[in-house]
Parts: sequence; structure tokens; C-alpha cells
Amino acid sequence: MATPQPIRLAPVPGFPAGAGEVLPSEMVAILDAIREGERFLVCSHSRPDGDAVGSMLAMGMLLRQLGKRADLVTADRIPPIYRNLPGADEVRTVIGVRGRYDAAILLECDGFDRTRLRGLEAMFVINIDHHASGREFAQLNWIDRGACSCGELVHRMVKAMGGAVTPEMATCLYTTLLTDTGGFCYGGIRASTFALAEELVRAGADPVKIARDIYFAIPISKLRLMGVALSSLQCEGGVAWLSITAQEMIRVRASDEDCEGVVNYALSIAGVEAAVFLRELPDGRIRLSLRGKGRVSVADIAASLGGGGHENAAGCTLDGPLERATGEILAAIRGELEVKSI
Ligand code: 5GP
Ligand code: MN
Repeated sequence: MATPQPIRLAPVPGFPAGAGEVLPSEMVAILDAIREGERFLVCSHSRPDGDAVGSMLAMGMLLRQLGKRADLVTADRIPPIYRNLPGADEVRTVIGVRGRYDAAILLECDGFDRTRLRGLEAMFVINIDHHASGREFAQLNWIDRGACSCGELVHRMVKAMGGAVTPEMATCLYTTLLTDTGGFCYGGIRASTFALAEELVRAGADPVKIARDIYFAIPISKLRLMGVALSSLQCEGGVAWLSITAQEMIRVRASDEDCEGVVNYALSIAGVEAAVFLRELPDGRIRLSLRGKGRVSVADIAASLGGGGHENAAGCTLDGPLERATGEILAAIRGELEVKSI
């Protein structure tokens, strides 16, 4: 495909922010591929979060508005807190993909591995991502590290395609913004983030209901897990860490999904610059959630250990046992903190 020239967005009535905007050529190439194709697979990363689920659903809605067929798949089930999202029941949980698709659209993934889906490599792949660790691994790639959520990029595509932001789509897109900004708290949010939130609310997203479904509907197993994890909390030299063993996970009947957000309690401590939540997996490896307040890039630290993510929120998986993984991550974070303080 020839490299397309940037095109200008025609002013969209009622959407001043997009008027006259120059579309990046990467996005234009993707829009062309979507216009030309008929059948699309839409997927995101394993253990999908709010941005993964919301942006997949909104992308599916856009494709259907354009008269295309869209099949939505992920390797792991949609967490209960996102199951009220419009269309969430249509997402199939699969271990591999096949079939004749014009393209597979991967949202939120910095490589094939992140999907944990087999068979994608054989397809024509469109990669749309906003992670600091984003890579151009697909046939078409659009990585915008300035976007607060992948949903923000999907929204730009909807606008550029002249699609309608329906109340259902607005609900999904608002969810991506809310969750990926940690409830409008993380670095990276700008005035335009709130402009988009306003537009989505005006289009029919109900911010109170969405927040209630996500933040006030947690299973009791999550609070029990939190109790155990918090009792392991340690804090030293600007770093706080907490952990849970595989056995403790079983004892409190916690699921993988219950672990989301636990790390934020460690980060919330005054004076802490970086926080880590370590979870022992059933196979003995250790899954790490890293968070930062801006002084160090946890994306760089995670990437140096085989993972990835955003500057202030990243993750990786290390070999066990827990003590060894804890030592490894603390050394990496302290090394970075020392470099930054020189
Ligand atoms: P969480 O700690 O919530 O699992 O992940 C935080 C952020 O880092 C998310 O944006 C997630 O996509 C990314 N992330 C977490 N684990 C990994 C990993 O193993 N590899 C990569 N590339 N990104 C990760
Ligand atoms: Mn995201």
C-alpha cells in the first residue's frame, strides 16, 4: 500500500476540537484499510482492563456502523465490572484465531504476545496503541503515546470516518478514559481529556453509573485480598511494595481480576515515588504491577525486565520465588531513583 498523504478533517458540526485537524498518515492508512475491508477481527490484550474492553467494543460499533462485520475476541473473560458495558456479552473468549478476515485490529497491544492468542501472525494486522512500550510489529501501526486511552484513538477514528457517537459507544469510550487515567488522576491528562469526557457525557455516557459499576461493585474477595496484601506492605527510600502468594490467593478465593488496582494503595503513601505489587502465580512465576508518580519511568524498568506499559503504570513477569523477584525489582527501581537524583 502506498504511503497516504495526511488529510484534513472536515469541520464536524458540534465538534470544534476536530475541525481542521491534520490526521496522522498512520491513522489515514488504517482508515483506508477499514474502508476497503469487509470482515474484521478486533482483539486486545489478555486480562483485559477498562481500556481494552471499552476500546474493543467501540471499535466493533464503528465497524458495524460502516456496514462491516466485526468479531470481538480476547484470551481472558471480560471482568465482571465491565460486563454491563453495551455489547460486552458479544466478546468471545478464545485461545486462538482463524478464519478469513481482511484484517485483525489489535488495540492496546505492544506485540503479539500481549494478546495470548494463537494465529494472529498469519493475518493482516492493524496495531493501534498508546503505550510508551508500543512497537511497530504489524502491517499497519498507529501508536500515539500522547493519548490517555486507546479509546481516545478509536474516538478520533469515529470522528474522521463521520461515524456517530451513540450513547452506547459514548459509554464504552468514557470507560476507557476513566479507567486509563485512574479516575482522571494520572499524568498525561490534559484539558482536551476533559473536553472529550464532556463530549461523551453529552453523547449519552452516564458518569455516575459508569463509576458505580466500576468502583462500587467490587467482589468481597477483592477486599479480603487487599487485607492480606496490605499486611505485607513495606516502604523504604521512596519505594513501597506489597505482595500475595498463590496460597493466599486461594485462601481468600481471589481471582486475577481482584488484583487490579491493589498497587495504588502502596503508591498513595506520602513520599513514595514508585510502588510494586507482586503476585505469585500458580506456576511459581511472579507477576508484577508497577506504578510511579513521575520521577522514574516504570515503563523503562518493566521493559528492562521483559515487560512494558506506560511511564507511570507498567507490568512484567519474573521468575520466582517471591523474595528473589522482590530483590530484583527493588534493585531496578532503586538504581533508577539514584540515577534520577544525581
Ligand atoms: P497492570 O499493572 O494494571 O497489569 O498493567 C499496567 C500497564 O502496563 C497496562 O497498561 C498494561 O497494558 C501494561 N503491562 C502490564 N504488564 C505488561 C507486560 O507484561 N508486558 C507489557 N508489554 N505491558 C504490560
Ligand atoms: Mn490503555
